[in-house]
Formats: sequence, C-alpha cells, structure tokens
Amino acid sequence: MIENRLILLRKTIREKNTVVTKNILNNHTISICVVCGTDKDLTKEHVIPKWAFGNDQKKFFTTNINNISQSYSQAVLPTCGNCNSYILGAFEHYLESLFAKTDLNSDFFSTKEKEKIILWLESIDYKFQALNLRRKFKKMRDGKYIPYLSDIPIGVMQNESPSKVFSNFRNALKKLGIKSKAESLNSLVIFKTTNESFHFFHKTNEFIFIELPKQKIALFYFITLKFDDEKIASETAMRKIKEAY
Ligand SMILES: [Zn+2]
Repeated sequence: MIENRLILLRKTIREKNTVVTKNILNNHTISICVVCGTDKDLTKEHVIPKWAFGNDQKKFFTTNINNISQSYSQAVLPTCGNCNSYILGAFEHYLESLFAKTDLNSDFFSTKEKEKIILWLESIDYKFQALNLRRKFKKMRDGKYIPYLSDIPIGVMQNESPSKVFSNFRNALKKLGIKSKAESLNSLVIFKTTNESFHFFHKTNEFIFIELPKQKIALFYFITLKFDDEKIASETAMRKIKEAY
C-alpha cells in the first residue's frame, strides 16, 4: 500500500513542483497546498509530525537567526486534504510503525526502508524551508524592533543570497519526486539513543537530526553531502551533534 502512495507522491511532485515553487516564491504566505499546489480543501500539515514530538504543546525549537522560539504544534503548513491524509498521513503511519517494530539491538533497516527514511527527512527539510519563508524575522529576542528587517522571511535571512535560498527551495521539492536514494544511503546515520526527550535540529540544505525517544532511535542525515565511507559519515555526524549541544 505504501508503495502506491509514494508513487502518487512522486508523480504529483514531478507534475506540479515548478508551479508550486513558482507560486510560493512569488508570494511566500500564499494559501496553497505545498505539495500539489491546489487552493481547495486546505488543512494544516505539521512540519514535524505529532507522533515524533509526542504532541507536546510546550515542545519548541529556537530559530538561531532571531532566537525566538516556536512550538512544534504550531509549526504547520497548508496542504490539501488529499496530500495531507491520503499521501503524507499514510507515509507517517508507515514510518511510525517501522520505527516501532525495529529494535536496533537485534535488527536493522533494509535498503528500501532506509530510502524511505531518507525521503521522510528530505520532506521535513522541504517543509522547514517553506515554513521559514512564511515566518517573518520580526526582531531579535530582547532586541529592538527594526522596521526594515522585521518583514524579511527567516529563510531569506539565513542565507547571504536570496537567490540561493530560492534555488535550495526548488531543489528540496524536486528531490521528493526522485525514487532512488541509493547515492545518499551513506549520508544517513542511524543510531540507538537512550535520551528521554525529543530533539531536533536542522540546517537548511546541510543536515537534519531527529531523536525519537519513544522509539529509541536517532537519525542524522546529511542533505547534500555524499560519503563513500559510512564510518566517516557517522564520525562527522557525531561531531556535528556535539557542536550543537
Ligand atoms: Zn495537495
């Protein structure tokens, strides 16, 4: 079943990605589905799924650009009912049960499963980029309100060049239309964790880290870097995690 839904996801993205990104880049806060571009039957899609952060209203992430916190429960994007539940919902359901049934003490993910985990992490990267285009800088926490900066999207302030931000965004969506993740398999580092709380950090186009306490699994994914040797990927990931905490 999940294969059919993912075929539909890829087909939708291949057909619609140009018009979706064009519309969003013309108007960052436009009310259209961030997957297929329709403006009908819009619902809210969580950037990080509820099951991952335990649906805790108080769990938040802090944006390094202005130090302002936002809760995961309010980090949502418009998606149509069909993309939200029939496609992305089914995919989330698949992943949640995949993580629940895989005990890393005795078991590991197959190549096909790893490719799906990569697709999932890439979809979070895309959603975060879309979210950061919608969110305005406003002001630094404890800082002064600066009118000419306040309206600039967080996503644009994160990069020295707006055109780079926009091309990252286009590429992030395009990637979701590609089936094989064979070249990126070594870029995914999976390890056991005993941490009790959900952790997440993300750097657009660079890496994404998710720690799932319930499933006792942590995932680190290099979004663009490729590795010949998975040991080097794993060492680099550990270094990045240490830097972030
Ligand atoms: Zn849609």
